[in-house]
Amino acid sequence: MRVTVIGTGYVGTVTGACLAYLGHRVTCVDTDRAKIEKLRLGEAPIYEPGLEELITLANGRGGIDFQTELAQPVRDSDVIFIAVGTPPLPSGESNLAYLEAAARGIGAAMDGSRFRVVVNKSTVPVGSGNLVGALVREGIFENHPEVADSVQFGVASNPEFLREGSAIHDSLYPDRIVLGAEDDTTAQVLHRLYQPLMEQEFVDPSFAPRPSARKVPVVTTTLTSAEMIKYSANAFLAMKIGFSNEISNICERVGADVTEVMTGIGLDARIGTGFLNAGIGWGGSCFGKDINSLLHTAGEYGYQARLLEASLEVNRLQRQIVIQKLQEKLFILKGRTIALLGLAFKPNTDDLRDAPSLQIAEKLIHMGARVRAYDPIAMDACREQNPGLRICYCNDALSAAEHADALVVVTEWPEFAALNLADVAGRMNSPVLIDGRNLFQPEHARLAGFEYAGIGRCATRSAPRPTAVLSDAAAAD
Ligand code: NAD
Repeated sequence: MRVTVIGTGYVGTVTGACLAYLGHRVTCVDTDRAKIEKLRLGEAPIYEPGLEELITLANGRGGIDFQTELAQPVRDSDVIFIAVGTPPLPSGESNLAYLEAAARGIGAAMDGSRFRVVVNKSTVPVGSGNLVGALVREGIFENHPEVADSVQFGVASNPEFLREGSAIHDSLYPDRIVLGAEDDTTAQVLHRLYQPLMEQEFVDPSFAPRPSARKVPVVTTTLTSAEMIKYSANAFLAMKIGFSNEISNICERVGADVTEVMTGIGLDARIGTGFLNAGIGWGGSCFGKDINSLLHTAGEYGYQARLLEASLEVNRLQRQIVIQKLQEKLFILKGRTIALLGLAFKPNTDDLRDAPSLQIAEKLIHMGARVRAYDPIAMDACREQNPGLRICYCNDALSAAEHADALVVVTEWPEFAALNLADVAGRMNSPVLIDGRNLFQPEHARLAGFEYAGIGRCATRSAPRPTAVLSDAAAAD
């Protein structure tokens, strides 16, 4: 099929490359010329493992090209994806300006030569499918009123669940595909588009091997339910991490270890093991924005979503924990040198949107500390996006630690786990390690000479391990 993807960010570029890899003919469009020029040279505008390789492979399959003009690709396409940003406004609601511009542009380009499906892949509040439909129609009437009656199109919602850092794997082997549409013709077009993905009828790329032969389940539903599914999924995931963080704070007070507690609860199939890692709080472009947007929607309908509010508050407080732990270890932060390991909001990405590192660095600098930092990928982005932030960027983790008074693990990049801790400790003024992601074993860090503080991990194991075997009755529920 012929496909246009509008927006070449983390979602649009990966979606376009995957659809072309599956055999569709794809044009990716962006208003940002610099991004399009890079993509034309075969370079990814973002850091995403395997993306450049996938674009090369996609060229040899369905074919992919990159444009700054929308009109011709839209006219040539059966399916048009909108994958533009929907950043938060100060009020918490989503800024739909980019979505609206894209929808009007699609309408202006439409003609009556074929049936087309316009798909919202951006994360958008309930009702946005209707809004896009109305704007496309307006675009048609404003630009080609003479063909308005002959233009046929459907609107769909196909929310995206990929994770930055494993976006290609997540797009080729998704847990599910959600298709929201108001009519059967529109839903059928998308079923045809996703057929190879649903049936897993493609040769897997060597850098993203197929994890299992399982077919991909499809949830076909209404526009509104599809829009709610995306927000609910993110709200639930953020709440799961927030829950672990809340429990970690109680663990610290009672002398338990949150990593063991979460292992213990995660083995319950009703809970599941994923997303239970306590730490210094979640970040990234989606969780905070999406929870705020859902809260705003609930408010528009006169409902106060208290669990969602609490989830945001727990995360806000969790981010302050690094400063508290540094104060407990060092007392005075003024004039101290603090080394941050990691800047990206999570490993394997260069994305710094709502990254805890930025808040921590800002706060430390404001309190009179000097901040050194190392991140394997995100340092250039950090420098560029935060020119006023007085961070001393270092070439590697060891040089960041040089003469520092404390080291903070902010992002759990795999290369940090492989550090020789004794070597790191030996280079520091005072070997204090605040492990914001529970990356290291406390005993290991202490043996290496560190004064260690993780998140939700008791300082010393004073209570004996329980040895009693629970009776069946006690173990139930
Ligand atoms: P992004 O900011 O990386 O990319 C958006 C792109 O859209 C930019 O390159 C921008 O130049 C382009 N754009 C804006 N207006 C345009 C227009 N009128 N025409 C053409 N291009 C235009 O954003 P992203 O991270 O890819 O997210 C896109 C959407 O997907 C958001 O709604 C986000 O919430 C959602 N989402 C993101 C992720 C993620 O992990 N990043 C995951 C799932 C869903």
